[in-house]
Amino acid sequence: MDFEYTQEQEAFRAGFRAWLQANLPPDLCVDDAWDERVAPTREIFERRRKWQGTMHAAGWVGISWPREYGGRGASLIEQIIYDEEYGRARAPVLPGYSGLSLCGPTLMHWGTEAQKKRFLPRILSGEDAWCQGYSEPGAGSDLAALQTRAVDMGDYFVVNGQKVWTTGAHFADWIFMLARTDPDVPKHKGISYLLLDMKSKGVEVRPLVTMNGHRHFNEVFFEDVQIPKENLVGPKNEGWKVAMTTLMHERGIAGGAGHRSQVKRLAELAMRVQIDGRPAWEQSWVRQRLAQFAIECDAIKYTRLRGLTRILKGQPPGPEGSILKVYGSELGIRIASFATELLGGYALLAEPSATVPDAPRWLNRVLSSRQYTIAGGTSEIQRNIIGDRVLGLPRG
Ligand SMILES: Cc1cc2nc3c(=O)[nH]c(=O)nc-3n(C[C@H](O)[C@H](O)[C@H](O)COP(=O)(O)OP(=O)(O)OC[C@H]3O[C@@H](n4cnc5c(N)ncnc54)[C@H](O)[C@@H]3O)c2cc1C
Repeated sequence: MDFEYTQEQEAFRAGFRAWLQANLPPDLCVDDAWDERVAPTREIFERRRKWQGTMHAAGWVGISWPREYGGRGASLIEQIIYDEEYGRARAPVLPGYSGLSLCGPTLMHWGTEAQKKRFLPRILSGEDAWCQGYSEPGAGSDLAALQTRAVDMGDYFVVNGQKVWTTGAHFADWIFMLARTDPDVPKHKGISYLLLDMKSKGVEVRPLVTMNGHRHFNEVFFEDVQIPKENLVGPKNEGWKVAMTTLMHERGIAGGAGHRSQVKRLAELAMRVQIDGRPAWEQSWVRQRLAQFAIECDAIKYTRLRGLTRILKGQPPGPEGSILKVYGSELGIRIASFATELLGGYALLAEPSATVPDAPRWLNRVLSSRQYTIAGGTSEIQRNIIGDRVLGLPRG
């Protein structure tokens, strides 16, 4: 494995860094971009949308998309450099990220020419923000159990049912969703992948507030909603295959990124707060815990690079995705929990205090870190995948 970047890659990094420095409005910057990937208000959402438009005009959106679809055809390494610089600048997650990373690549693979022409440019520009309508009250880990029905009426489908945990649905312009089009076949068959304009008659979005007070996701209800046939992606009743294409892209967004900066913040916190009348940092057990976290961050980094090397050599994705998802998301919880050990009673403060000015941020981290062991496939499901497909363990 070669850890050095080429001169061209360093130049690419410098170019993007300089562009961000010159163009990113400071008041759009965020501390924990993924925790705050859904804007807290419509006003901030629209400002972020404008920011996506600015980035797009300068050619900095969807850089790894093929040129024929409006991207730059950037290499995997360039995408990683891009992500590093974007995170370093504390720039907000683009409001169109669901379209850019999930729906767009799925349409490139399965969409008709008309669908690609209609939707892809607007995903890049941020004119259309998308949400993902997969989970239902009775279908999460067992997604194929979904019950939302779409009845074929010739030119259009009529949809009835409900989705839940739909991130960003309250701001989204469109939803890519799964619905059952044939209830009389085994559950993985008879599902179709549909694109729905959120302004359609019969769509109702009801926000759900998370335990950190964020308005992140929603319930979405469909009552006799009409979806034109032209918005069916892939063959009717074969939506499961299309859905898996989307999930392949979702699993690429594995946990673990950003932990290094959290550990750095923890070390700063340990120097500020006191335990037994001395700075926490002076306790050897505190320094050992921090060192252990730093080691685990490195283990994640090299596991990620091993997966990357495999892809660059043209080999199929290995077990790294599931390992990173489980390990990265659970490490995030342990890092946040250690912050509560350092903070003691301050961990409960939702307002800054003189001793711990960033206490609310830690409280948010403690509560937010939990979501990553659930979203995009729970830890239990990832462990099943590792046991079954990687280790070849017998089924119980
Ligand atoms: C922050 C966040 C954002 C999300 N955004 C979206 C979104 O935008 N769109 C969307 O469609 N969904 C979204 N989800 C939903 C997410 O995909 C589901 O929560 C997840 O798939 C788990 O499904 P569930 O909540 O129904 O739990 P369940 O599947 O009911 O699981 C409950 C518990 O049982 C365990 N379990 C289930 N099956 C097994 C098994 N076979 N073996 C062992 N243990 C098992 C699970 O691990 C879990 O602990 C989001 C979730 C979160 C937390």
